[in-house]
Parts: sequence; C-alpha cells; structure tokens
Amino acid sequence: MKPHHSPSRRKALKQAALLGSAAFLSPTLLACAKTEEKKLGIALVGLGNYATVQLGPALRQTQYCELRGIVTGTPEKATKWQKEYGILPAHSYSYETFDRLRDDPDIDIVYIVLPNFMHAEYTIRALEMGKHVICEKPMGMDAAECRAMIAAAKKANRLLQIGYRLFYEPHHLEMMRWAQEPHEGRIKLMETSLGFDMARPGLWRIDKRMGGGGALMDLGPYVIQAARRAAGANPVSVRAQGYVDDPELYKGIYGTYTWQLRFPDDALCNSTASFSAYIDRYHVAKGHHYTELKPAFSANAKLSLRTWDGERTLPSAEFQQATQMDAFARNILDGTPVVASGEEGLIDMQIVDAIKQAIEKGREVEIGY
Ligand code: NAD
Repeated sequence: MKPHHSPSRRKALKQAALLGSAAFLSPTLLACAKTEEKKLGIALVGLGNYATVQLGPALRQTQYCELRGIVTGTPEKATKWQKEYGILPAHSYSYETFDRLRDDPDIDIVYIVLPNFMHAEYTIRALEMGKHVICEKPMGMDAAECRAMIAAAKKANRLLQIGYRLFYEPHHLEMMRWAQEPHEGRIKLMETSLGFDMARPGLWRIDKRMGGGGALMDLGPYVIQAARRAAGANPVSVRAQGYVDDPELYKGIYGTYTWQLRFPDDALCNSTASFSAYIDRYHVAKGHHYTELKPAFSANAKLSLRTWDGERTLPSAEFQQATQMDAFARNILDGTPVVASGEEGLIDMQIVDAIKQAIEKGREVEIGY
C-alpha cells in the first residue's frame, strides 16, 4: 500500500530535510517521519464474520497500520486471505503456532477477534509476547478477567485497546458533547438499546460457556458505554430483568435483558439488549430538549442526529474500525493514552456483572468499581 502524505506532513518532512538533521525534529515530527517509513503491522486472530466483513476491508483504508498477518485454524481461509490481502505465508499462523508471533518483528499489533471466552487468554498471551493488543468486546467474561488483562499490559509495558469503534465515531462524539454541555440543562433520561433476531441453535454467542450471557455480553457493552459517555459519569446502581421467549434456545441465559442504570445526579438510563428482536437506538433527554441516534450502534449504519429542532448528518469514515485502529496506531507511535482503553472495558464489565447480580437477586444492586 502506498503511504499517504498529507500536505502538512509533506511540508514538515521537507522542512526537516532542509534542516539536514533529525536532531532538529520535534518529537511529533519524528513520529510523522517514522510513520512515513513504516505503517504498524496488524495480525488478525480469528477470521470469522467480523474480521471478514468489517476489519479486513477497514484495514484497506487505514493510514497508520496495515494488515500484515493472520491467525486461523482453517488452511483454506489462510490461502484465501493471503491472496486477497497480499499476506506473506511467513506471517500466516495457526492456533498451534500462535506463540511464534513473538519472533515476528513485522507484527506490532495483535487483534483478537475470537469468541468471548478466548479474549482474556489470547490477549494476555499476545501481551506477554511483547505485542500491543486490540481485543474485541466484551473485553472478557467478567471483571476479574479484565483486571488480569490490564495487569498483563502494564507488566509487558504494551498498549491495550478494546474494539470500541464508537468511541471514535463523530455522531457519538457529538452526542456526548451535547449531553455534557451544561447550558441546556442536565440529562434526566436516557434510553440505549440494541437487539437483533439472531439466536440460532449452535451459535457460540448463546452458549453460556463461550458467550458468557447472550445479548447482555454481546450487545450490552455498546449500550452501557453510550449511557456512561453521555452522562460523563459511571452509574451507581442498577435494577435488571431477564426474559426467555424460547426455552429451547436460551439455556442458563436470557434472550432479552432489560435494565435501568441510576447515575450520581439521578439521571436514569433504561436499556435493552436482545437476541430475539430488532432495536437500535440511543436517546438522551434534558427535559424538553433531546438528541437521538436511530440506528445508533450497528457497524456502518448511516447515522444522523435527530434533535427537538431538526436533523443533521456529520461526515464520517466508511469504516468506523479504520478510525479506531488508526487511533490506536497513533497512540503507539506518539506515546499517547488509549481512549478505548482496558480500563473502559473493565468498567463496562463491572456493570455487566452487576446487571447479572441484580437479575439474580431481584433487587437494585450497587455497582462496585
Ligand atoms: P464468528 O463466530 O464469526 O468468528 C469467530 C472466529 O473464531 C471464527 O473464525 C472461528 O473459527 C474462530 N474460533 C477459533 N477458535 C474457536 C473456538 N474454540 N470456538 C469457536 N470459534 C473459534 O464471530 P464474530 O462475529 O466474528 O465475533 C468475533 C468477536 O468479535 C466477538 O468477540 C464479538 O463480540 C466481536 N464483534 C465485535 C463487533 C464490533 O462491532 N466491535 C462486531 C461483531 C463481532
């Protein structure tokens, strides 16, 4: 892939060349110069639906990182991806040879796109190999796993990002900005919900051991973080309910989860995560004034902000994941903090754990952080 040279960076590099020595370069310019030489290499681990339909195509559009490696248990997939993305066979791994990534200097970032129960194990193994890691949501099976992942990143002195593409999405950022702007009053009520008719026999997402709790684990993180980011605070307590509409499909988990988060200033968020029916909306209200995104959370849905007095669409990338991965690459190159950090993933899982407890206990539960 041809490196992208923005006019300002071209100018900066030209100026640096005129000065004749890297000693004159500021750290930022040095980082720019370094990026021109080499994009960071990403290896995708798990070539399932999300990797195939979203992450692979998104990696064709990234500026600071590129797809350079794959880990798959299916040799036919390896051959197909090598052809499609020009991946060298030397950068193609199986789960048995995963640990050899340690000795592959072309792979800087390992991206874990595996079923939920494998997230913590593979993230920790990759960090221990000295790689930076992006791990898909939900970060782990529970808060304890998330803490272990954060500790592993600290110990290895490597960065960890959670695949929260919406942390970088312009409509979501605008929703957050408006929600926290004090002059229109404070938030009183939110609704954040996501659901699809997607439960099918054999799907790992509805297997309690592999998925950890159906729609709550799969879709819950989106709607929980939307509420937290709009409120600019973490909820203090939760009431929750679980419903089963097909006992053959849902064993030890619920098909539809609903819950109500209470925030420190008494703002309330009502949420649903469902594998039984479609819903996709994010509504924040301050008395009479409100802002709504509908659809809100699906990857590549056309987003527009609807308010009490109109509607507007903001410029956004074709693939939200390209922005997310580039942001992480910049964090690595510039030594800046990760926005969709492990700490953010941990908070979401602490809330998920509290939702499970609230359903079990049948009462409001304080959320421990
Ligand atoms: P998928 O089932 O399509 O893919 C999972 C991949 O893992 C498959 O290629 C499968 O072969 C592989 N795998 C390796 N070992 C396995 C094992 N022991 N059991 C089962 N599969 C195994 O799932 P997906 O939709 O690609 O989701 C993968 C991850 O990405 C999940 O954690 C999911 O939550 C996340 N995801 C995130 C988003 C997002 O918008 N951020 C969207 C979709 C999925």
